[in-house]
Amino acid sequence: MILSCLDDDPRMERTLCRFAGLLGHEVRFQTTSSALRDDLERQVPDVIVLDLSLGSETGVDVLGWLADYHPSVPLVFLSGQGDELLDTARRIAQGKGLIVFGALNKANMVRELPEALSRRGSSVRPPPVSVHAQAQAQQTLSVEALRDCLRAGRIAPYFQPILSARTLRPVGAEVLSRLLLPEGGVLGAEAFIPLAEQSGLIMDLTRVLGERLIELEPQLRPLGLDFLSVNLSAANIERKGAAAMVKRLVDAFAGSSRIMIELTETAVLPDLQQMRALTTQLRLGGASLSLDDFGIGYSSIRALAELPYDALKIDLSFVAEMFDSEKSANLLASMLYMAHSLNLQVVAEGVETEAQRDRLIAIGVDHLQGYLFGCPVPIEQFVTSGERT
Ligand code: C2E
Ligand code: CA
Ligand code: CA
Repeated sequence: MILSCLDDDPRMERTLCRFAGLLGHEVRFQTTSSALRDDLERQVPDVIVLDLSLGSETGVDVLGWLADYHPSVPLVFLSGQGDELLDTARRIAQGKGLIVFGALNKANMVRELPEALSRRGSSVRPPPVSVHAQAQAQQTLSVEALRDCLRAGRIAPYFQPILSARTLRPVGAEVLSRLLLPEGGVLGAEAFIPLAEQSGLIMDLTRVLGERLIELEPQLRPLGLDFLSVNLSAANIERKGAAAMVKRLVDAFAGSSRIMIELTETAVLPDLQQMRALTTQLRLGGASLSLDDFGIGYSSIRALAELPYDALKIDLSFVAEMFDSEKSANLLASMLYMAHSLNLQVVAEGVETEAQRDRLIAIGVDHLQGYLFGCPVPIEQFVTSGERT
């Protein structure tokens, strides 16, 4: 690999060249940002190693320019300062759309550099299905088009496996909505769920999805899943309609899987009194309840204190960062401790690498979900892969 390194301390050149050389990498060392620019123009490296303090400028100053001209070259940050600064620099870079393989304290470079460089190509990506379609649709999908799709039943449930962390076998699945466009093509949830929530169509969507799931019960039953997780946007839902829909689902799946409702508290803080009523009705209707996206909402801990949840889903941002930020790793362990002390099952989502999987199992997570084990897929594919396992 070719590493282009920017550090104003020329003594680092020897250390870095010797160490990276031992690992079989070539280092091109620069001490000013203009030298780095020239170097990148001559030949694009595989990785840029960037020191945060550069004398008259800082590594952060260089990021804007890198984002404009070389957004696809991954970065590794270096600093002699504390981990907090490295962590914030990493977030700034990611906020500008740059790829960051690691943020290394100079004191730990020998240990951490090989690991950071090994990230190249190691993460599992979802199939590139609808990124383009989604970007287009966000601009073009109107409320009318969404309403027409709902009327025509153009909502398809996709299924993503959820595994037991103990056996690594699928024990459940999350149902994720997809919109089937009349002109062909499939839209991911991010492209129409927020629109459905804002326009009040979310309840119709939930109903269409629920009916479709009930039709699919005979196909899902042979898989013997313990539970099926369905998302509900708590803030925008009509309580009575939702509770009745969920009751229908619970009854239809009574002979096969438990229905687990994943409640997200999107956008506005829902009235706690309303949440008490909704969660109680859902539980009385026979569903289990999971608090989704835990750790990023406004009221999550208050909600845990008073609402009848059975499970908690740690937001995938904590999993994504568990090796980059000590803070995230510590928070993850604390959330787990808190959840277990409240008798809640813990699901970690967004698991993309074996290293994440192994660490999550080691700290005691109950269930795992993520591209490492399977992307969300249509029923036919889900049933076929379920028969194989
Ligand atoms: P969510 O409930 O947090 O669902 C997880 C999202 O993360 C899904 O995106 C899933 O495809 C994605 N994901 C799964 N594994 C990985 C992974 O390993 N790495 C990464 N980076 N992502 C992963 P999706 O399907 O686009 O759904 C986005 C959100 O839309 C969901 O977030 C959920 O809040 C909402 N949503 C989806 N279907 C429905 C629905 O039927 N009703 C409601 N109300 N909301 C829904
Ligand atoms: Ca969810
Ligand atoms: Ca989530």
